[in-house]
Amino acid sequence: MIDPVALAQALIRCPSVTPKDAGALGVLAEALTPLGFACTPLPFTGDGGPATENLYATVGSGGKVFCFAGHTDVVPPGDSGLWKHDPFGGVIANGLLYGRGAVDMKSAVACFAAAAGRHLAKGPFKGTIALLITGDEEGDAINGTPKLLRWLQEKTITLDHCLIGEPSSTVTIGDGIKVGRRGSLNTRVVVEGIQGHAAYPAKALNPIHALAEFICRLTKTPLDAGTAAFEPSTLVFSSVDVGNPATNVIPAKATGNFNIRFNDAHSFDTLKDHLTAVAEAVEIETGATVTLHFNLSGVSFVTKPGPFTDVLDNAVAAVTGAKPEHSTTGGTSDGRFIKELCPVVELGLMNATMHQANECVPVADIEKLTDIYTAILGAYFAE
Ligand SMILES: [Zn+2]
Repeated sequence: MIDPVALAQALIRCPSVTPKDAGALGVLAEALTPLGFACTPLPFTGDGGPATENLYATVGSGGKVFCFAGHTDVVPPGDSGLWKHDPFGGVIANGLLYGRGAVDMKSAVACFAAAAGRHLAKGPFKGTIALLITGDEEGDAINGTPKLLRWLQEKTITLDHCLIGEPSSTVTIGDGIKVGRRGSLNTRVVVEGIQGHAAYPAKALNPIHALAEFICRLTKTPLDAGTAAFEPSTLVFSSVDVGNPATNVIPAKATGNFNIRFNDAHSFDTLKDHLTAVAEAVEIETGATVTLHFNLSGVSFVTKPGPFTDVLDNAVAAVTGAKPEHSTTGGTSDGRFIKELCPVVELGLMNATMHQANECVPVADIEKLTDIYTAILGAYFAE
């Protein structure tokens, strides 16, 4: 049997700041192997990304494949003076396990490994339990999940459902699952006019005024009113840059950056069309040249309510007494890649201290999440 708390401590003691593995995946494989898991280390390199360790582990055969996806890399601890305990010490104090990755998400990886052990101890079952663990989730993921998924496809390994152990709970463990994520599109706008003297604006073409018009047009009309599964999409300018130190000069160029978090009412193409139309309208009105540079981080996805989400809802309710809320808030996750292969949801610990100094999780929550994951496996393979 795996003790999830001890395994979480052992994982935290590996200082696996992205893209370093620092032995973390070896610790996990060492825990899984005695349970009967076949562990395949999958190091990937190249494509401009850092060398990354990854792991695919499976046990069982036939039937449906239930995949747990997660990561053992962590964000840097930041100023170590702000920590009450060594961020890589795995210290337990006053019922809390401290350390970088305690919440995001080494403990959830440990919970799932322990839950798999408990499920296997119940006797033979028809189906396959898989773990898909990457060492580059907190970075650009170039040699992480996308290449893991490509490897699965090359081996013609299919997944039926996937649960990502990202922190999804807010006030109490199991109070929320993420059934989807918004898409994210970053765009840089470059507006070019004609440089001139501030006293003779008629002889110049002010790109700042044209950029202001572009910003107003984009921000005064909402992108949508929300959909069944999503809040309204948002558009946020993060920067406007001119770099002009002179007070008597109209500059030649003004630039800006904005981010759109979009729901399932939009695709990359529909957003591109919308933004291009606004840019063209501003060009016609102002005479300036407006150029857009798009950088898509991920499109939106949602796993619709059905038998799979019912299994999760009921398993959570069996342990905590209440069904979880379904939400689609937050940033992007590796779900944006996995959704191409199978339905995916996220269910994990409370997210309050993730990425903070003194990241910590109640030890009792580690036990509870293990119970939840065990209940999920039981219900999933009983179907
Ligand atoms: Zn994470």
